[in-house]
Amino acid sequence: MKKELSVDAIHQRVVLAIVEHRLPPGTKLGEEKLAKVFGVSRTMIRQVIERLAHDSIVTVQPNRGAYVSSPSVEEAREVFAARRLIEPDLIRRAVATATPADIRRLRDHVGLEHAARAANEKRAIIRLSGEFHQIIADIAGNRFLARTMRELETLTCLVIILYDAPNVPACPYHEHSDLVDAIEARDADKAAHLMVDHLGHVEASLDFGRDDDGEVDFEAVFAAN
Ligand SMILES: [Zn+2]
Repeated sequence: MKKELSVDAIHQRVVLAIVEHRLPPGTKLGEEKLAKVFGVSRTMIRQVIERLAHDSIVTVQPNRGAYVSSPSVEEAREVFAARRLIEPDLIRRAVATATPADIRRLRDHVGLEHAARAANEKRAIIRLSGEFHQIIADIAGNRFLARTMRELETLTCLVIILYDAPNVPACPYHEHSDLVDAIEARDADKAAHLMVDHLGHVEASLDFGRDDDGEVDFEAVFAAN
């Protein structure tokens, strides 16, 4: 008989499916269906959903059920504002704490991103882009910030699928490489600056004008030429 999956293991698999956009924003997460798929009780699925809801990745609507969250434009901007506060500090810490093995891990990861991009594997590109930022948080070694980053990173993945402008990569690839260079050179100021610029570029590549509730920003529409 197969060993029953733990709440942790199911949580991890659902998060991965959300990050890779196999469960897009707005998808209903039916307890019964999930319980059947994973071969566990509805009580366990409820625990998984509670945890996802606690991290804002899933939204529970009373009497209707749980849905993969669809962050609004305002929430998306708040996610980036939070990342701009946290990540320069995390990378400064990483500059101080990174071992040669950590730097190799980052370089290998950038290599994986490059391969995914070359193969145009969009799901892998988004997941790997997020993981790069998570590795920096792990190297920085603050458990609480690392946990917060995990939450922000998953929300960023939801934001990217909702507002991604066509043909724009999630994270400009060479910028990750530049960040690793700055960590290796132990240049904390440069690393922090590059991180702020990088997050700015990711946010700027998103097309918030597509939000249904938002009004068309005519100035933005006619700003060019
Ligand atoms: Zn990035």
